[in-house]
Amino acid sequence: MLVAGGWCFLPAAGCGGPAAATAPVPRATGGAASPGPAVNSTEPPMTEYTLPPLPYAYGALEPFLSARALELHHSKHHAAYVTGANAALEALVKARATGDHGLVEHWSRKLAFHVSGHFLHSLFWESMAPRGKTAAPSPAFVAAAKASFGDLEAMKLQFAAAGRSVEGNGWAVLGFDLSRSSLLVLQLENHQKQTTFPFIPLLACDVWEHAYYLDYQNRRADFVAGFWEVVAWGALSARYARAVEMSRVG
Ligand code: MN
Repeated sequence: MLVAGGWCFLPAAGCGGPAAATAPVPRATGGAASPGPAVNSTEPPMTEYTLPPLPYAYGALEPFLSARALELHHSKHHAAYVTGANAALEALVKARATGDHGLVEHWSRKLAFHVSGHFLHSLFWESMAPRGKTAAPSPAFVAAAKASFGDLEAMKLQFAAAGRSVEGNGWAVLGFDLSRSSLLVLQLENHQKQTTFPFIPLLACDVWEHAYYLDYQNRRADFVAGFWEVVAWGALSARYARAVEMSRVG
């Protein structure tokens, strides 16, 4: 289930470790802690997006990413998407009340951008782990990579190529194509463009300039290549297993 408050849509796998204990739970607005706008009782309860804590210290991914770069990325950039998502959510409720469809469309676009940014950043943090704690890919994941790409190295090459060549801002994302029960690499623009459905993101690498410029300047290819040093293969394999389980259930 996709939970608005954080990266928990594959709870048994994606939220393991320290982040799970502190994973934010969406809370209804309208209570004492958050007055919020009045919501028609026929609508689902409003939830608020919150910034999840990193599952490791800011300096834990050095030398791949400096503590300063990671702190700025998480506490400023990711936080801004959370703020933007909540602002868009509130504005959308008000826009609906006006009956102005143009306004609803405007805030729907804003919401899609900010929520997707929030979601992908949450996955990005979970996609990485400090050296020595990345674990190994499961045999099932390796087999899936072989079936979908030829082998694991071919998957890594395709993912890295996607990250290197995004025009402007975007992401390289590996995910599970529910319709074909196979792995797929996507190249997203901004956060939400060129999305494919039905697709469960399992691994994300942020290639917006703010993700790497402080440490790598214009050398995006070096940043993307270095990403593999910190990929949390164990967590990725667990998310893959959950996605397969979901495909069987659903
Ligand atoms: Mn980012």
